Amino acid sequence: MKKVLITGAAGFLGSHLCDRFIREGYHVVGMDNLLTGSLTNIEHLFKLKEFEYYHHDVTKFVHVPGELHYILHFASPASPMDYLKMPIQTLKVGALGTYNLLGLAKEKNARILVASTSEVYGDPLIHPQPESYWGNVNPVGPRGVYDEAKRFLEAITMAYHNFHGLDTRIVRIFNTYGPRMRVMDGRVLPAFFSQAIRGEGLTVFGDGSQTRSFCYVDDLVEGIYRLLLSDCHEPVNIGNPDEITILEFASEVLELVKNPAAHVVFKDLPVDDPKVRQPDITRAKAVLGWEPQVPRSEGLQKTLDYFRQVVTLD
Ligand code: UDP
Repeated sequence: MKKVLITGAAGFLGSHLCDRFIREGYHVVGMDNLLTGSLTNIEHLFKLKEFEYYHHDVTKFVHVPGELHYILHFASPASPMDYLKMPIQTLKVGALGTYNLLGLAKEKNARILVASTSEVYGDPLIHPQPESYWGNVNPVGPRGVYDEAKRFLEAITMAYHNFHGLDTRIVRIFNTYGPRMRVMDGRVLPAFFSQAIRGEGLTVFGDGSQTRSFCYVDDLVEGIYRLLLSDCHEPVNIGNPDEITILEFASEVLELVKNPAAHVVFKDLPVDDPKVRQPDITRAKAVLGWEPQVPRSEGLQKTLDYFRQVVTLD
């Protein structure tokens, strides 16, 4: 049985990856320090003999006894609100955490896939963004702690590949949504859904003309799974190219949730908020035979079912 270590296992993406690898017949070692993750996301796995959990901060030396075939490094604060609150931890997990896990991969002769982000493109001057674009990032702006940590993650991963011949994969993840997103994580989808369910104002930042492209979590997990099993060492964008303005997105949420008390309110645009974002997925299509399957209407309905269960109304 192949053994896979997943860091950030109690987080939104990490927990879905744990489910997928269990379903595929792997032994999964989940690791998290619960800085932003929650055990409720993986509680259902604890009874399985194919699953074990380590409470550990990967910015400290990481050891896992025995054989290890694959490592997926998904630990990091990932919402702008989180990394504004935890700038040093964000830098450390992207830099020191990645360094520790690359060392573990080398020691175990394991293949490692690291989670990068569309944020490496910053506020992009090329649209949509192909992997060949180098980005437009402000290193000293508030988002720099995440963007630069992830750029370092890519650089050190490539260095381990080129210098040590380590078997590496880099996924650049675009905005992803689905069940298990944290209600209060500050990102646009949990914010809009919880505000709409409670009958409050949907907080559109700026004039809402900025765009994002939202990918349903099952599609993302499929892309990551295929990338891990491919032989592609170059970064690969995984995301849904279906682009929408944030104001249009607020209208879609209002229409779906159907709470007459909900409405749109405008708030200040955060500093360095990217104006546009859309993945060019030519490489993922060619190398992985992957493209998203779940349309936004379907993904949003599934996500709404989840949020209706977890959003409190008082
Ligand atoms: N946003 C918004 N209202 C919110 C939260 C976010 O209008 O309550 C906007 C934000 O300014 C950005 C987009 O929605 O333009 C996506 O923000 P998010 O924090 O989800 O992630 P990002 O893509 O910026 O990393």
